[in-house]
Amino acid sequence: MMWNELLVRYGELTLKGKNRNVFIRQLKRNVKAALHGLESVEIKAERDRMFLTADDANDMAEVMERLPKVFGIHSFSPVMKCAPTMEDIYETALSAVRQNETEGKSFKVEIRRTDKEFPYISGELQQMIGGHVLRNIEGLHVKMKQPDILLHVDIRRHEVLLTSKVYQGAGGMPVGSSGKTLLMLSGGIDSPVAGYMMMKRGVQIDAIHFESPPFTSEQAKQKVIDLAEKLCAFGGNIRLHVIPFTELQQKIAYKIPDGESMTSTRRAMMEIADRVREEIGAQGIVTGESLGQVASQTLDSLTAINEVTSTPVLRPLIALDKLEIIDIAQKIDTYELSIQPFEDCCTIFTPAKPRTKPKLKRVKHFEALIEDMDTLIDAAVENRYVYKLPLKKEETFTDLL
Ligand code: ATP
Ligand code: MG
Repeated sequence: MMWNELLVRYGELTLKGKNRNVFIRQLKRNVKAALHGLESVEIKAERDRMFLTADDANDMAEVMERLPKVFGIHSFSPVMKCAPTMEDIYETALSAVRQNETEGKSFKVEIRRTDKEFPYISGELQQMIGGHVLRNIEGLHVKMKQPDILLHVDIRRHEVLLTSKVYQGAGGMPVGSSGKTLLMLSGGIDSPVAGYMMMKRGVQIDAIHFESPPFTSEQAKQKVIDLAEKLCAFGGNIRLHVIPFTELQQKIAYKIPDGESMTSTRRAMMEIADRVREEIGAQGIVTGESLGQVASQTLDSLTAINEVTSTPVLRPLIALDKLEIIDIAQKIDTYELSIQPFEDCCTIFTPAKPRTKPKLKRVKHFEALIEDMDTLIDAAVENRYVYKLPLKKEETFTDLL
């Protein structure tokens, strides 16, 4: 039995009124972007669900690949259609149920009868179709509450729509429906996961990366571009701001004692990030910090780093264990990229023993010794390079140099 249509159920439907329209419109835009290039796809967004059609079977196969990554979708189901005759409904019902694993599964028929002139009423239809399915497919039993398989039959005037197999969506909210933040993206395991988690809550992101050539390599930067591109699969386009950080980092390493230099480096990064955030009109900064993971991620360190701004700094991984973070990184396919051995700016300048309890007064005292700190920060913001991701296929990173 052929099908060329999907019914898409929205996630988080507690959203009401105006917000609901914003949610649906944003989701439609995101689905459209995710399905870009599939010529035969059409999207129809209704108040309580969305329909996707694709007349080309290859396009539909691609839709099934891409749709599970789009946030704001609770689940989706292939829709089978037939003429409004009992004979056709019986046959199509069997095909629809057979899309599922049926052995030992519980089952229920649900009827929606929009055509009030159809010769049987809902209760009768439920009995008739259910009976037919049970007689023809072995291993099923009826269960009215929370059945494994729900066969939904929608009787309309000129056609009947049947759904049975349910695919899980990504959940969350459509990216772009909860504002915008700036993600501090290193080449490590954590920050791409942090970005993913914010996107899941509907937040659009720009990313910022600090590089210190020639101490950091072109491959390290390429890795970050690749990571940001991976995140694009979950919600459209990401602008990546690459900050030239060498001069500042060298100055800090030269002027500030080992115990404090890590904190000062982080403070400078945060200050630059905040400046970029303001320019792009984002409302918060996101990091991949997780409590206690390294010296810069103790509460004392976070407090000292945070002191440079009053902007909300969102740390979605703060209470996760490393293994939990790795799990997500594997699921979203960033892990293999992250573990490539190209060092980022922080790794290279990390002192042997950074303090886990930095004293803000001391840090500020030493920072004051770098007289041109503000000028250096201005220059870093000014001289950033912005990549618009995803890069078009034919455009490779080296073309942009
Ligand atoms: P990650 O795996 O995300 O690199 P990490 O465990 O290595 O995290 P740190 O290196 O201490 O921890 O970095 C903490 C956070 O600071 C990162 O998650 C990221 O948000 C930000 N960060 C670190 N280095 C950079 C960088 N070079 N560019 C942009 N952000 C950075
Ligand atoms: Mg790191």
